[in-house]
Amino acid sequence: MTVLCVGSVALDSVETPFGKADDVLGGSGTFFSASASHLSPVQLVGVVGSDYPVEKLERLRARGVDLSGIEQADGRSFRWRGRYRHDLNAAETLETHLGVFSDFRPKIPEQFRRAPFVFLANIDPRLQLGVLEQVEKPALVACDTMNFWIESRRPDLIALLGKVDLITLNDGEARQLTEKFNLVHAARWIMDHGPRFVIIKKGEHGAFLFTRTSIFFAPAYPLEQIFDPTGAGDSFAGGFIGFLARTGDLSEANMRRAVVYGSAMGSFAVERFSIERLMEITRDDIHTRVNEFRRLVAFDVEMPA
Ligand code: AMP
Repeated sequence: MTVLCVGSVALDSVETPFGKADDVLGGSGTFFSASASHLSPVQLVGVVGSDYPVEKLERLRARGVDLSGIEQADGRSFRWRGRYRHDLNAAETLETHLGVFSDFRPKIPEQFRRAPFVFLANIDPRLQLGVLEQVEKPALVACDTMNFWIESRRPDLIALLGKVDLITLNDGEARQLTEKFNLVHAARWIMDHGPRFVIIKKGEHGAFLFTRTSIFFAPAYPLEQIFDPTGAGDSFAGGFIGFLARTGDLSEANMRRAVVYGSAMGSFAVERFSIERLMEITRDDIHTRVNEFRRLVAFDVEMPA
């Protein structure tokens, strides 16, 4: 089944302790599509400026991402500049230039409006709400967000919560949004505002899936070398939603499998800058890593008398 994703298509400049990249392909929509397209067809909606190297997006098209919803507008592309110091879990935003993003009003092409899975990647919650007015009864609507929008668009974000089935956010964002330090309390607060499922990501410490009646946890893959954490969250979401769309099964057991696929795809994203690693992996690489996850958490116990 198809996934419709609306998100940022950016040029990122990133500094990590291991190197630096300037004006490389980035954005929440870009990472999500690069990841999800390994599992299901993706329709991407976004905007780029007249300075965007659109030919570089061809690699996504070759992976089965439908780019007919990408608008090229007059003006500068969305740019994000970030830095990671030794705590690779915490991105420090140095600059955000919205550029053509400030006047962007997503127009969902007619042929995208019936997508069964919708992912509202990290963009202005007002735009995320605008997308929901244009789609027809998806089986699952999920969204992501970040501190930038929690600070500047809180009422819109709360309104959005009432209209989505699932939200993914990291632990810092969950605490900031809910003003609750305890993550179980934070997840409950979010579910009380709408979503049936909440995924709280904790970077290299794994991810929780909360439902009203259960909690599931998957570790992050213990990589020996993390090169650039940018896009891990969006790639997680791509693996998660891509797996659900591929299997078409929204049972809780399958959601748990999807969390592991999300963790696997997030772990690939951080192995190189930009979407580079996501572009080179194969179905076999993904299967191998998912199996490694299985071994990572498998254990037997006989309760001592
Ligand atoms: P993450 O998966 O959380 O590491 O997301 C990283 C991506 O988010 C980068 O490629 C940025 O271009 C993008 N990004 C950063 N700030 C924003 C923002 N305010 N709105 C939308 N996308 C953003």
